[in-house]
Amino acid sequence: MCLRQLLQSSQLQRAWRAAFLKHVQGRHPGAWRWTHSGGGPYRAVIFDMGGVLLPSPGRVAAEWEVQNHIPSGTIVKALISGGENGPWMKFMRAEITTEDFLQEFGRLCSEISKTSVPVDSFFSLLTSERVAKQFPVMTEAITQIRAKGLQTAVLSNNFYLPNGKSFLPLDRKQFDVVVESCLEGVCKPDPRMYKLCLERLGRQPSESIFLDDLGPNLKAAAGLGIHTIKVDDPETAVKELETLLGFPLRMAVPNTRPVRKTMEIPKDALEKYLKDLLGIQPTGPLELLQFDHGQSNPTYYVKLANHQLVLRKKPPGTLLPSAHAVEREFRIMKALGNAGVPVPKVLDLCEDSSVVGTPFYLMEYCPGRIYKDPSLPGLEPSQRRAIYTAMNRVLCKIHSVDLKAAGLEDYGKHGDYLARQVQTWIKQYRASETSTIPAMERLIEWLPLHLPRQQRTTVVHGDFRLDNLLFHPETAEVLAVLDWELSTLGDPLADVAYNCLAHYLPSGFPIQPGLSDCDLTELGIPTAEDYFRMYCLHMGIPPIENWNFYMAFSFFRIAAILQGVYKRSLTGQASSATAKQTGKLTEFMSNLAWDFAIKEGFQIFKEMPATKPLMRSHHTWSLLRTPGTRSYVTSTDSSPAHASKGALIFSPEGLPHRVRELYQKLKEFMERHVYPAEPELQRHQVSAERWTPSPLVEDLKEKAKAEGLWNLFLPLETDPEKKYGAGLTNMEYAHLCEVMGTSLYAPEIFNCSAPDTGNMELLVRYGTEEQKARWLIPLLEGKARSCFAMTEPQVASSDATNIESSIREEDGFYVINGHKWWITGGHGEVLFEQVRVPKENIILGPGRGFEIAQGRLGPGRIHHCMRLIGCSERALALMKARVKSRVAFGKPLVEQGTVLADIALSRVEIEQARLLVLKAAHVMDVVGNKAAALDIAMIKMVAPSMASRVIDRAIQAFGAAGLSSNYPLAQFFAGARALRFADGPDEVHRAAVAKMELKHHS
Ligand SMILES: Cc1cc2nc3c(=O)[nH]c(=O)nc-3n(C[C@H](O)[C@H](O)[C@H](O)COP(=O)(O)OP(=O)(O)OC[C@H]3O[C@@H](n4cnc5c(N)ncnc54)[C@H](O)[C@@H]3O)c2cc1C
Repeated sequence: MCLRQLLQSSQLQRAWRAAFLKHVQGRHPGAWRWTHSGGGPYRAVIFDMGGVLLPSPGRVAAEWEVQNHIPSGTIVKALISGGENGPWMKFMRAEITTEDFLQEFGRLCSEISKTSVPVDSFFSLLTSERVAKQFPVMTEAITQIRAKGLQTAVLSNNFYLPNGKSFLPLDRKQFDVVVESCLEGVCKPDPRMYKLCLERLGRQPSESIFLDDLGPNLKAAAGLGIHTIKVDDPETAVKELETLLGFPLRMAVPNTRPVRKTMEIPKDALEKYLKDLLGIQPTGPLELLQFDHGQSNPTYYVKLANHQLVLRKKPPGTLLPSAHAVEREFRIMKALGNAGVPVPKVLDLCEDSSVVGTPFYLMEYCPGRIYKDPSLPGLEPSQRRAIYTAMNRVLCKIHSVDLKAAGLEDYGKHGDYLARQVQTWIKQYRASETSTIPAMERLIEWLPLHLPRQQRTTVVHGDFRLDNLLFHPETAEVLAVLDWELSTLGDPLADVAYNCLAHYLPSGFPIQPGLSDCDLTELGIPTAEDYFRMYCLHMGIPPIENWNFYMAFSFFRIAAILQGVYKRSLTGQASSATAKQTGKLTEFMSNLAWDFAIKEGFQIFKEMPATKPLMRSHHTWSLLRTPGTRSYVTSTDSSPAHASKGALIFSPEGLPHRVRELYQKLKEFMERHVYPAEPELQRHQVSAERWTPSPLVEDLKEKAKAEGLWNLFLPLETDPEKKYGAGLTNMEYAHLCEVMGTSLYAPEIFNCSAPDTGNMELLVRYGTEEQKARWLIPLLEGKARSCFAMTEPQVASSDATNIESSIREEDGFYVINGHKWWITGGHGEVLFEQVRVPKENIILGPGRGFEIAQGRLGPGRIHHCMRLIGCSERALALMKARVKSRVAFGKPLVEQGTVLADIALSRVEIEQARLLVLKAAHVMDVVGNKAAALDIAMIKMVAPSMASRVIDRAIQAFGAAGLSSNYPLAQFFAGARALRFADGPDEVHRAAVAKMELKHHS
C-alpha cells in the first residue's frame, strides 16, 4: 500500500476517529454523547477572566514583547516573580497602588531582560479596549447556559485602574455573581475566593464547573470538589463544557454573527431570487447571518426552507476594476470542483447588481471545523500530524490540476509569476510607504536579483493557510478549501512557503497566532522543512533547494500588505480597529523576510560553481629538487626570474628572483631569530603575563619590519599597487607561508597571523578611507589585533545560518546582542549586550555580507593549509633526527621497518598536500577566488588531517618526550587537530567537494 492509499484508507480514518473519541472520553468518561438538555448535576458555571473570557495577560505580553523588541518571556517571568508576595499579586489584592505597582514591576522587568522596559505601555495595552474584548465563543456559551436556567459567575484576579474603578471589561449583566480580588483582598488560588463565590451563588461545589487556564487555580477549585476545565483554547474548552452540561453552547452556525449594520442586504429581493433559482415555495422566513471572516468580500449564511447556502459578494462602494472579483472566485471554484479538489459546491453567479447591490455568487453551506490556531490545541500529536498531512495533500491536489482539462489555461499569465509578483508588491509598498524601513529597502534590491530560474505554472491559491480549510469535525479530512479571492496561475511553491508563515511567528502574534515558540516535535507538527519535504514527496518532485527565497518573498508580501493597512489606518479609512496596530508589524515581517534572504544567500554561496575549465593552460615546469634537500637552512639558488602568475611553481627554487630573495631572507630570519626565541615565547605563553603582548614578539616584529618581511600575505590582486603589502601572488606567498608555519610564533612576528590577515584584506578591499585610516593602518603596522566573532555556544556554528545573534538599527546605531566564543586572539568568550556600534562603522553596507564573504573567504582560507605543510615538514625533520640518534633493542630506531614506513608515508603525504595547496593558490591567482572553490574545499579537507597524521607519527617516534614541552610537537598536534573543525569541520568540506563533484563533473 503506497503512502497515499495508506493515508486515505478507511483504517486510518477509523483510527483517527477512535483516537479523537478516546481523547474526549478519556478526560470525562462517558461524557461524549449529548445526554439530556440542562438536566445534569451542574447548576452553575464559574469563569476565570484572563485566558478564559479574554486573552490572558501572558498572551497580550507575548504580542507586546514582539512589537517592542523586549526579550520574549520577560513579562510573564515578572508576573510570577515573588509568588504571593510579588508586585503583581499584591496589586491584584489592591495592597499597592497602580503607580507603585508599575514602578516595582518595571524594575523587575528591567532586571530580567537587562534592558529598560516601558511597562506603562504594556499596562495600557492590557487594559485597552482592543485587547480586553471577550472571546465570541464564550459570549455565545454564556448566553446558552443562562438560556437553560443555569447560573454563571466570574471569579477574577483583577486590579484597580488609576481612575479608581476595578478592571473588569465584561458585561456584568452576563453573570449572576462577580467576585473580584481587588475588592475582596484575596486572590485565587486562595480557597476563600471560591467559597465566597459558591456562597453568593448558593451552590454546592459539586453543582459547579470552574474554567481557568492556570493549573494552580484549577487545583484549588478541584480540592473543594468543584468540577474543573482547563482552558488552553476557548473553542476546545467550550466543547468540553458542552459535553459536561449536555446541551449545545454554540450558535447553530459557527463563526457567524448577526449581519453588521453597514453590511445589510435586502432580504426580500434575495428571497425572491432564491425562490426562482431553487424552484421552491418556502413557508418560513429567510434566515441571514454574516460570517466573521471574509472581511474583504462580505460572506453570508443564508437559510431558506431546508436549503443552507453561502453568499459571497463584492463589498459596497467604488472598487478598483480587478479587485474583489467574485466572478473569478466562482469560475475557479467551479472548475476545481469538477477537477476533484475539495471546494464548496458553487450554485450560481449573479452579476446583476440590482438584487443585493453588487454581483455575488452562491455556494452550498458546508458544515465543518476550522482550526484557527496552528498549534491545534486540544488534539493529540497524531491528530495534528494528520491535519498537517491532509493540508499538504490538498495543496498538492490544487497544484496538480490539469489546466487545459479544467479550462483554466487563461486564468492567469504563464511564467515569470514571481518576477511579476515582486514588482507588484514593490509598487504596492511604495504606494503606501510612510517611512523608510531598512529591511524593505534591502529586499526591494535583493528579491529581483534572486528570482528562481525555473518556475512551474499551476493554479495557486494565493492565501493558502490552515484557517482557510474546512475540516471534517472528527477526522483529518479536508472538506473544502475556502477563500479563492487571490487565486491565479503562478508558481506553486509560493503557496507552500506562504502556508509555512505561521511556523516563524510567535504564538501570541497578533493577526495570526504562530508556532515559532512551540515544541513542534512534542506537538506532532512537522517543521517547515519537513512540510516542504512532504510536499515534494507528495508531488514526486526533487527537494526544493531555494525555499528560503520563497519564504523571504512570502514575508515581504505580507509586510507590503500590512504597510497598506497601516497607511489606510493613518488616513482614517481603516476597515478594522486593529489596523493601526497590525500595520506596525510591517517592520517585524520585513526583518523576518530579510532573515530568509540571508539564509538563501548562504545557500547560493554554497552552490557557487566550482572550478570552471581554466581558460589558461597550466604551464607547469619542474625544477625537481633532490628529495630531502628542503631544509630549514639552505636552498639551491638556480633558475631565472619567472612570470609566476601563469605558472604553477611547486618548488621555491622556481620562484621569481625577488620572491626567492624574500624566501631566503625569511628562512634566515627564522633560523637567526624565531627558532631560538621559541623557549622564551613558550615560557611567556604559560606565565601570568600571557594576556599582555610579549616584549620579545614586539621586538622581533620591529626587526622583521626592518628587513621587509612584513605583511607578505596581501595578494597582488587585492593590492595591485603594492600600497599595503609585498605584492606576492597567492602561490608565491604559499611558499613563504609554509616557512612561517614551521613555528607557531612566526605568523605574528611577520604580521601574517589569522584572523588579522583576512580582516586586513577585507578592509583593503571594502573599507572606506575613514575605516582604513582607523583600523587598517594600525593593523598593517602591527599596532592592533583584530578578531572574527562567529561561533556561538548555543548553536552548531559550522552551519552559519544557525547564528542567533541579532543586529538591529536604532537611533543611528547598530545594536548587537549575542553570545560568542572561541574568538581567536585569546580564544575568548564574549557576551554582546546592547552593544551600540555607530552606523558608519559597518563595512560595505547592511546586507552585503555575501559580497564580502565571497571576497574574504579566499586567500585567508588557505593560509592555515599553507602553514600546516610547514608544520608537518618540521615535525618530520625532528622525527628523522630523533630516530637516527635514539637506540632501542640494539639498533637506532631508524633501522626499524615500521619507522622507515612512517617516514615514507609522511614524506608522500606532505608532498601530496603541498601540491594541492599550491594548486589551489595558483587557481585563485589565475581564475579567481570564486572559481577556486573546489580546490579550496579540497585542501581544507586534506591539510589538517594530513598534518595530524604526520605529527602523530613524529610524536610516536619521540616516545613520551613527544608530548613534553621540550619539543613543539604536542602544540603542533593540538593546532592541527583543532583545524579539523576550527576552519570548518572536515565533514563540511567533504560534503562541499562531493556536491561540486556531482554537479560539475558528472
Ligand atoms: C583553536 C580554535 C580557534 C577558533 N577561532 C575562531 C574564531 O576566531 N572565530 C570564530 O567565530 N570561531 C572560532 N573557532 C570556532 C570554530 O570556527 C568552530 O568550532 C567551528 O566552526 C565548528 O562549530 P562548532 O564548534 O559550533 O561545532 P558544531 O557546528 O556543533 O559541529 C560539531 C561537529 O559536527 C559535525 N558536523 C557539522 N556539520 C556537519 C556536516 N555537514 N556533516 C557531517 N558532520 C557535521 C562535525 O564533526 C563538527 O566538528 C575556533 C575554534 C578553535 C578550536
